[in-house]
Amino acid sequence: MNLLYDLWDDFISLLFPRLCYGCGNHLLRNETLICTECYVVIPRTNYHLDKDHPVAQLFWGRCMIEKAAAFSYYNKGSRIRNLIHNLKYKRIRDLGFELGRIYALSLHTSGFAADIDMIIPVPLHPAKERLRGFNQSELISQGISDVTGTPVNTTSLTRMSVTDTQTRRSRYDRWTNVEGVFRISDQDNLKGKHILLVDDVITTGSTIESCASELLKIEGVRVSVVALAFAVL
Ligand SMILES: [Zn+2]
Repeated sequence: MNLLYDLWDDFISLLFPRLCYGCGNHLLRNETLICTECYVVIPRTNYHLDKDHPVAQLFWGRCMIEKAAAFSYYNKGSRIRNLIHNLKYKRIRDLGFELGRIYALSLHTSGFAADIDMIIPVPLHPAKERLRGFNQSELISQGISDVTGTPVNTTSLTRMSVTDTQTRRSRYDRWTNVEGVFRISDQDNLKGKHILLVDDVITTGSTIESCASELLKIEGVRVSVVALAFAVL
């Protein structure tokens, strides 16, 4: 009976091949979304084991970030870039949760996430979220939370819509300035908390800086940061 089932399964995979979202290779029967090879060969930054590294350095002199880390490097053609593209543009939502889980296993084992009280995903522009149907950072956060047990808060930090804040600014200002884009809605809920901000990719750090500077106005708040990938400029 099992043999018959396996044959049927193989037949179905010939008609509808299940491919890895990282490398495009065929997935084995026991694999979902990401193949075992991708799990193994995606380069890890291991920044969560260190205090002095390129992502932490992005924020030096800009805002007080307790701890910062990124899972991998965002390079052209890299597997993590393919995975993030498939998550965001092909809307493979399960990838967000899965990648969050994979990274959280390292964060959890190393103790990086041990003193975090709350996870806050970096909010998308409301129009962009409506268009995409989800916020990828929220899905990643849910994956992290699944491993660490830390609650995810998606209501306290919001992003003003583009039309509210940016239409009257010059293109140069929009490029350099995300100050004032984020708003806190319930300060009392955040007082004294160590918050983990979660984003998909960190590039210049200006979005994180903008979120963190709002959060750090609240009494006793500490902010740490993680992303799935760091884009080396
Ligand atoms: Zn793969």
